[in-house]
Amino acid sequence: MDWDIIVLIILYLFFIAYLTIKGRIKKIGSLKIFIISILFTPFIGLICLLTSPEKITYDVTQYKCEKCGYFFTEKHIYCPNCEKEGVKVLLTESINVMTG
Ligand SMILES: [Zn+2]
Repeated sequence: MDWDIIVLIILYLFFIAYLTIKGRIKKIGSLKIFIISILFTPFIGLICLLTSPEKITYDVTQYKCEKCGYFFTEKHIYCPNCEKEGVKVLLTESINVMTG
């Protein structure tokens, strides 16, 4: 048993895994990086990763009413829709990560 080969294979797989994780923040995406790294060695995968522009992400805070299902982008304590009907429904805050 040649342990050097096993260590190299493990490092190789770790390198692919690392590139795949890194690919998430890039426009090219993890899946393409993974496929490229498997088919054309992780070195080509690394080049693709480095040349791919970064994904632009921004957080959008939304306030959702559980009763009427309406989303609001402005902050309200109670749902304005339901408040008109005389019902005070607390809005639940959710942060959505948008990619551009
Ligand atoms: Zn509502």
